[in-house]
Amino acid sequence: MTDPTALADRSETTTVRAVGAQAPDAPLGALEIQRRAVGPRDVRIDIRYCGICHSDIHFTKGEWGTVPYPAIPGHEIAGVVAEVGAEVTRFAAGDRVGVGCMVNSCGECENCAHGDEQYCLTGNTQTYGSVDRDGTITYGGYSDHVVVDEDFVLRIPDGLELDVAAPLLCAGVTTYSPLRHWGAGPGKQIAVVGLGGLGHMAVKLAKAMGAEVTVLSQSLRKREDGLKLGADAYHATSDDATFDALAGRFDLIINTVSAKLEIGRFLGLVKTDGALVNVGAPPEPLPVPAFSLIMRRRTFAGSLIGSIRQTQEMLDFCAEHGIAAEIEVVSADQVNEAWQRVLDSDVRYRFVIDNSTL
Ligand code: NAP
Ligand code: ZN
Repeated sequence: MTDPTALADRSETTTVRAVGAQAPDAPLGALEIQRRAVGPRDVRIDIRYCGICHSDIHFTKGEWGTVPYPAIPGHEIAGVVAEVGAEVTRFAAGDRVGVGCMVNSCGECENCAHGDEQYCLTGNTQTYGSVDRDGTITYGGYSDHVVVDEDFVLRIPDGLELDVAAPLLCAGVTTYSPLRHWGAGPGKQIAVVGLGGLGHMAVKLAKAMGAEVTVLSQSLRKREDGLKLGADAYHATSDDATFDALAGRFDLIINTVSAKLEIGRFLGLVKTDGALVNVGAPPEPLPVPAFSLIMRRRTFAGSLIGSIRQTQEMLDFCAEHGIAAEIEVVSADQVNEAWQRVLDSDVRYRFVIDNSTL
């Protein structure tokens, strides 16, 4: 006879195929995880593509702190709605949707009330590695399905294919948000440090906003690509002459570098009253020489992804301006190799997993 307890347990969760890691230094491999049943306000998404963000690597390898293994990363999710809960009003089966870096927040604190859920004062629920509202640990998009509260699901406009839209859910909004906040637009000189996943989106978005864009990369080997993406100028940071030639040039610098940088040198490139905004998230501190700030009233700031409202605004902006990520699609068994290429700065410019290969 079937054990009734086992049946009840199984009816509450769904088994999902995934790719993840069991330890900081372990390679990624195939795993099975459990997802909660679709609640009244939930949307179950059949994941078609998931981008590979450098954050997936920092997190899974334990660079940012203790990880509740198994780690199933992935927060650039694009897919199709498979099922909705009874109270869901904004989505229906068959809709093309996305999920980014967060899947919940308190909804009540000052920041949530202001529509900045990413800065939820109790901590937003991250798409992976967070404690979810039911007490379970969240698992990300390197998997075939995800169940998410409808308030944290984005609509992917018709003009955007799902594979090239996936990276917009993190790389897109993480660069769109500070560009908007610090007023990128016509007449503004913007520099983007690091031409990887975030960097290449920053170039496209800043250009579409009407700014003049300069790439600051370690070398000139991606120069041709950078200019094709829309950059007006491209300089190597390995060349000391770059720092003399561009001193005091920029209204805004977006630093997307995943490693420690000599921030003082880059602050020297910022105009009076300009800002250097850090979105890169290396685990090491970034020491800032006081004089590099005070001599020109410069700002050194940071920015975390973007709100849900702004993520939708960014997706609509991309559809309107014909902007999407430059991607290399990989199958589930190529993810370890793709991660190594990200670590080697050999990504052009976002790896995206074809989740049908899980
Ligand atoms: P990525 O694709 O690996 O791009 C990072 C780029 O930084 C590389 O392509 C490389 O560009 C440059 N770089 C790498 N190592 C460097 C070094 N040692 N010195 C100088 N430059 C170096 O990474 P990503 O996915 O864009 O993410 C970038 C960073 O942003 C990560 O730390 C990630 O965790 C963080 N992030 C933050 C947020 C947020 O909300 N703030 C959101 C997403 C990601 P060049 O070859 O052109 O020099
Ligand atoms: Zn990310």
